[in-house]
Amino acid sequence: MATCTGCSLLCEDIEAELSGGKLSKVKNLCRKGHGHFQSAFSERTVPMIDGKKVDLDQAIARAAEILRSAKSPLLFGWSNSTLEAQNVGISLAEKLDATIDDTSSFCQGILMERILSGSIPTCTLDDVRNYADVSIFWGADPSSSHPRHLSRFSYYPRGDKRQKSYEEERTCMVVDVRMSATATLCKDYLFRVPPGGDAEFIEAILSVLEGKIPRLGDKKKMIELGGLLKKAEWGAIFPGLGMIYSLQDNMEVFERLIARLNEITTFKVIPMAGHFNMRGFNELLREKTGYINRVSFEGGAASHGPENSVVAAAKTCDAALVIGSDPLSSLPFGTARALARLPLIAIDPRRSLTTDAAGVVIPAAISGLEAGGTAVRMDGVKIKFEPIIKADLPADEQILSRIMEAI
Ligand code: SF4
Repeated sequence: MATCTGCSLLCEDIEAELSGGKLSKVKNLCRKGHGHFQSAFSERTVPMIDGKKVDLDQAIARAAEILRSAKSPLLFGWSNSTLEAQNVGISLAEKLDATIDDTSSFCQGILMERILSGSIPTCTLDDVRNYADVSIFWGADPSSSHPRHLSRFSYYPRGDKRQKSYEEERTCMVVDVRMSATATLCKDYLFRVPPGGDAEFIEAILSVLEGKIPRLGDKKKMIELGGLLKKAEWGAIFPGLGMIYSLQDNMEVFERLIARLNEITTFKVIPMAGHFNMRGFNELLREKTGYINRVSFEGGAASHGPENSVVAAAKTCDAALVIGSDPLSSLPFGTARALARLPLIAIDPRRSLTTDAAGVVIPAAISGLEAGGTAVRMDGVKIKFEPIIKADLPADEQILSRIMEAI
């Protein structure tokens, strides 16, 4: 049985054989996972220095040299790396007095911080399967991003207290700006929010919960939503990037909504982390430093602040190591350009814009397929996995250890 690292659901029930450049005898793999497994056979990286093929030892030696001579290096990515690799990465950042940050810095971090500190109540996906009668996808489209979410946990399966499941006992709702793939499945319960209007939408729900007529939005729809929330026995909300980007620094209003809902009934929140081990990095860094991201070890002690975010640090650091992420295709153009101008080291199994721009490329085994390790599912459950393909490439953790030894 294999574990899929195609998203943060980390499905552990995958049956697949991979040989001769093809997948065969596949069971339980969604289309996204299928693409992830198949990618083991295409667009793989090779060790490179300044666009020329070299051997692995040379690439590692050059990476160590760049980091050793940098005054303020940035180590970024981590969300597609195992806990073991993240652990070595944090030690490397300490050794180098470097800044370390991950992809949550510009997505789910603002919510994850509240989940890990306990200010917003959470639960496991197994609790959702067993108890939830209402699941709300808010600014999230799991049918595209986490395709087995509804079938394994939140809508279709039978659970201890939900034997009649989606036919009678579960309601799936979507709050979104558009008719997403998930919204088409539960279109009777699509509640549209205008782009950037999530804070006002939440204020309107809070009014309805107080028995008042909301001042904004479709009043009839808002009253219907308020009634459904009040009637829920055990609800789960899954915020996606649509909600996070809309609320930005106004997460307090969401916290108020959850607190109010929990005065009436039970509601839990699980952030829809995208990368397979984003939450793992947040938990590990928090355990070691007290912060989930944006940490600098300059001067030997951990400090936290917006100046340590990848967006700011890309403009002030003098070298960068990127692992488990492709910031050049996902970050704002100014940040991507700043990273591309640096002495840049990319550790990645596959080609990406970042590896194409990097002065040093170090190929790695694909976690879950070619390398074993541990990761934290989106709900905080630790999952251990073994490789299912034999590969000659080192795992992220081994590459980082070798860089550290060379430094
Ligand atoms: S839902 Fe995610 S982890 Fe599960 S098979 Fe699909 S891509 Fe892989």
